[in-house]
Parts: sequence; C-alpha cells; structure tokens
Amino acid sequence: MIVETFPAGPLGCNCTILGDPSTKQAIVIDPGGDFPAIEAVIAEHGLTVKAILHTHTHIDHVGATAAVQKKHGAAARIHEGDEFLYSILPIQAQMLGMRTAPEHAELEAALRDDEVIGLGGIDLRVIHTPGHTPGSCCFEVRQKGDDAVLLFAGDTLFCRSVGRTDLWGGDQAALVSSIKKKLFALPDPTRVVCGHGEDTTIGEERRENPFVRVR
Ligand SMILES: [Zn+2]
Ligand SMILES: [Zn+2]
Repeated sequence: MIVETFPAGPLGCNCTILGDPSTKQAIVIDPGGDFPAIEAVIAEHGLTVKAILHTHTHIDHVGATAAVQKKHGAAARIHEGDEFLYSILPIQAQMLGMRTAPEHAELEAALRDDEVIGLGGIDLRVIHTPGHTPGSCCFEVRQKGDDAVLLFAGDTLFCRSVGRTDLWGGDQAALVSSIKKKLFALPDPTRVVCGHGEDTTIGEERRENPFVRVR
C-alpha cells in the first residue's frame, strides 16, 4: 500500500495520498492546500485519483480539493453533517485571516457511517465521529485480509490531545464519546495519522491521552 502523508496548506493539515500499487488507483485524504506538492506525489507514483475524501470540512482541510478535482475528475466527498461548513468557507477564511476562500469543488455522494470504499486490494471504512464538527469522520484502512489497521483521525484525535470543539457545531461530549466508543474499539497497535502533527497509536492514546480518561 502506498501511504504518503505530508503537511499541506496554511495550517499544515496532514494530507495523505493513499495508493494501491497493483491498480495504481489512489484516494487523496484532506488536500488542505499546496496543490503542486500533492500533484508531485501523485505523479511520482503514476497514480489515478479515484476519490477525494475529507475527515471534516474546516477550511484548512479543503484548500486544494477543487484543484485536485479539476485535474483528475475525481469525486469529492464529505459527510452531510459538514455540508453547512462547506457553504461558509468565506466566513471560515475571514476568521482565519485568509484573504480569499478556496474555490468550491463539486461535492458528490455524502460519506456514510460504516461505508466501505474499495481501492484495489485496500478497504477504507468510514467511521462517523462527530464532535470536532458534526460531520467529522475517521477512515480505517486495511489491506484486504490483513489485520493491521491504519486510522486517519482528522482533527478528532491527536497525539496526547483531542480536537477543539469551540468552532461551528463543535460538541465536547460528542467528541469524547466518539473517541471512546468508536476509536478506542480499534486494536491497540492501530497506527493513527492525525489531522495535524505527529502519528500515534490507539493503545498509546487509550493509556496516555489526558483528555479522554478511560478508567
Ligand atoms: Zn478542524
Ligand atoms: Zn485541522
């Protein structure tokens, strides 16, 4: 499995190019900006982008969505709980001191909880984890028939921290419940790629995360 993660866009959102080496199909997760950098990774591996998925719809996670879609004609998808956030990108831009809001992409079929998106030999399962935003989702990725799991957590769970809930539609109780019930149900060795900053694992966060005490 090809997994290339790098910070992109004004707030260094972790963008990931997930590729299947046999079919050369790819999914782009959270193209926050820096379209040329994203394009360079796609080209380096000779990939065809099948879909653009978003863990949530804050402006720093969608900055290059329209550009990637224009170039590759790929389906751009968010959870319906975040559709209102996509419609207020200019307000989000203003709040973050950005002069212009990114161009709107054509959104296609909304992401559904527990939906599985196939990518050659890879399965990506959508886990709806409201809290940071109403439509926040995490993506559980595994090679078909393989146990090892990779989780794209967006801004829901960070290394020893959790996402903020003071922005539009944020809900602290929902966030904690999403993490405890849905993310901590995953196996301890699950590697977690966070929306910003360094990776972690489910086991480490279950034991060490001060914001989500389990015991
Ligand atoms: Zn966010
Ligand atoms: Zn973010």
